[in-house]
Amino acid sequence: MLTLRHLNKTYANGVHASNDISLDIPTGLFGLLGPNGAGKSTLMRTIATLQEPDSGTIHLDGADVLRDPQALRRKLGYLPQDFGVYPKVSALELLDHFAILKGLTQRGERKEAVEALLQQTNLWEARKRAVASYSGGMRQRFGIAQALLGAPRLVIVDEPTAGLDPDERNRFLNLLARISEQVIVILSTHIVEDVTDLCTRMAVIGKGRVLVEGEPKAAIATLRGRIWRGAVSDAQLPELQQRFTVLSSRLVGGKPQVNIYADHQPDSGFTQVEPGLEDVYFLQLREAA
Ligand code: ADP
Repeated sequence: MLTLRHLNKTYANGVHASNDISLDIPTGLFGLLGPNGAGKSTLMRTIATLQEPDSGTIHLDGADVLRDPQALRRKLGYLPQDFGVYPKVSALELLDHFAILKGLTQRGERKEAVEALLQQTNLWEARKRAVASYSGGMRQRFGIAQALLGAPRLVIVDEPTAGLDPDERNRFLNLLARISEQVIVILSTHIVEDVTDLCTRMAVIGKGRVLVEGEPKAAIATLRGRIWRGAVSDAQLPELQQRFTVLSSRLVGGKPQVNIYADHQPDSGFTQVEPGLEDVYFLQLREAA
């Protein structure tokens, strides 16, 4: 279990990027969801001990992370947002190089670990190709392979699905889900669908604060009976937004279709629909605004 208590971080420019953050993150895939600028990367970097909070505590399986950051680093796999290393060497060579840096100095053991990871991330067939020639999805899977070196207890991936096509995204998320059967995996993302299907637990953060935390299904269930959908005209939209909590609006066949949060049917043009995580997300952000 990873336990965060009352984490605060204010940057020199006055931005309060972590605001009293407390979370319990068990083994499994944990989705950290929030818009750009919410403070996700700040929190990821703090947990990865790349920067210190101003106050608060972090414990991994009971051990004080801030007191002994080295101990955490030995148990950590990290895929940062800007993992920009794509040289013209093969995946096999590069992963072997990272393995040496990670302390896998014994040749046979290292070869075994590197080969197993290339298999696990489905890069075995492409292991002799230069990482520079990889597609976005393959690069992200390579990023996971390097993060898994040394059998970490905690894996942090920061906005990994940006720029992946739907196929690559699914493949990548399935890989994370499989890994998370045994380790804590924290997936930071601004894409709601990344969290809906596979994350066992999640938190929504906005402006540095935890807005909601728990199982996606449970959070969704709290909105049952209060989400209404209807097609409106462009002209009606501003008035609706004034009278109701409009959660989202998307064009369907050229006309805006809106989701409204209300205890009762807004008007006869609206029908009740099953809530989704997107409704939870937009409601929380709306209420925090
Ligand atoms: P996210 O990952 O959710 O997009 P970040 O943690 O990157 O959010 O940023 C949270 C807030 O902190 C933003 O307002 C951002 O501009 C600010 N911020 C992030 N890093 C720094 C920094 N090194 N110095 C000053 N402000 C920063």
